[in-house]
Amino acid sequence: MTPAEAGAVHAAALVIDAHVHPSLKTYLFRRKLDKNHRSGGAFNPFTMRVDFPKAKAGGVDALVSSIYLPERGLLDDCTALKLLAKVSPKRIRRLFTGDPFERTIEILDDFEKAIERANGGGAELARVVRSTEEIHAARADGVIAVLNAVEGAHSLGGRVDNVEKLWSRGVCMLTLAHFYANDSAAPVVGIPPEMQKLGCFRQPKNLDLGLGLLGPPVIEEMIRLGMVVDLTHCTPKARREAFEICGTRRPLVFSHVGVQPLADDPMSPTEDEIRRIASTGGVVAVIFMNSWLGEHRSRNGLDAIIATISRIIEVGGIDTVAIGSDFDGFTDPPDDLEDISRMPKLTEALLNAGFSGTEIEKVLGLNMERVLRAGWR
Ligand SMILES: [Zn+2]
Repeated sequence: MTPAEAGAVHAAALVIDAHVHPSLKTYLFRRKLDKNHRSGGAFNPFTMRVDFPKAKAGGVDALVSSIYLPERGLLDDCTALKLLAKVSPKRIRRLFTGDPFERTIEILDDFEKAIERANGGGAELARVVRSTEEIHAARADGVIAVLNAVEGAHSLGGRVDNVEKLWSRGVCMLTLAHFYANDSAAPVVGIPPEMQKLGCFRQPKNLDLGLGLLGPPVIEEMIRLGMVVDLTHCTPKARREAFEICGTRRPLVFSHVGVQPLADDPMSPTEDEIRRIASTGGVVAVIFMNSWLGEHRSRNGLDAIIATISRIIEVGGIDTVAIGSDFDGFTDPPDDLEDISRMPKLTEALLNAGFSGTEIEKVLGLNMERVLRAGWR
C-alpha cells in the first residue's frame, strides 16, 4: 500500500477526533488557530498540535474540542504552577476565582472568538456545529466542524441545572472526572509517573471512591437532554456506578484512553468495561500518548495505537473503537504521530496491518458519528 493509495482511503473517510484541547493553547498562550504551528514529538507544553491548517492537512473533518477549566486543586498540589499563576496575566489568574461554571463559559466564549478570528482572513476554515447533520454540512463545504465538549464536572460549579445550560450551548459531551475529585465523580491518577516529576500532582488518589452526590443526577440529566457521558478519568468504582445508572439508554464512552492489559493502569478500561461500552452502543477512543498506550515511561508509537485499536476490536467488536488523540492536552504524543496533520499515517498503518477500508472508516469517524447521533440532541 503506497502513501498515495492510503491517502485516497483517508480522504474518503469521515474523520472525527473525539478529544482535543486547542482551547487550552488559545486561552493560555493566545495561539492563533489559522496559523500552521510547529509541533514536534516530545512533551512540550507550548507547542500547538491542533490548528486549522494542520487539521485540514490531516484530513480531519470534525474536532471534539474539550474545554478544561484548570482545577483549583492544582494550585495546592503544584508549587511551580502556584508561582506561575501569581505572575501570569489577570485573565489566567481569574480562572482560579469565582464561579467555576462562569469561568468555563468564559473559556468557551474565548475559544469561539478565536475561531471567528481565524475565519477573519476571508475563507471560512472552521465552524462550531450543534448536530451531526451540521458536521456533514460543514464537511460538504470543506469546513472543519468543531464540537464543544467539557472536561471535568468541577465546571458545573456544584449545580445540576448547569448541565442544561451547557447543553443549550451545544456542548456534546462531558467528561465527569479529571485530576481532582469533584461533586460528580472521583478520579484515577490522571498524570503518568514521568510527568509527576514536575513536582506536581502528588495528592493521593482514593480508588475506593466512586460517583459523588451529584454524579447520579448529573448523569440522569445528561441522558434526558442528550449529552454524551464520558467515563475517562473516573475511578473503576465510579465507572461501575455510571454503567448501572445508564444501562443501555444512551451510548457511554471513554474519549481518550489506552486499554488493559496493554496499558496496565486503573485509567485504562478492562475487557469487561470494553464489552459494557459496546453494549451501550458507545466507543472507546484511543489516546495518542505514549504513557497511556503501554508501559509507563516507554516510547510507544503508532504501533501501540494500532495494537490498542486491535485489542478493542477483539474484545468489543469493530463498532466499539474510535480515536481521541488528546492533542494539546499537555500530552507526550508518539514521535511518529506528533500532531493532527499526521493523521493519514494512521490510515496507512491500519491498511498495512490488514484493516479493510470499511473497518478503517468506522475507526476514523463513523463509530463516533453514530455515538453522537444517539447520544447528542
Ligand atoms: Zn483528559
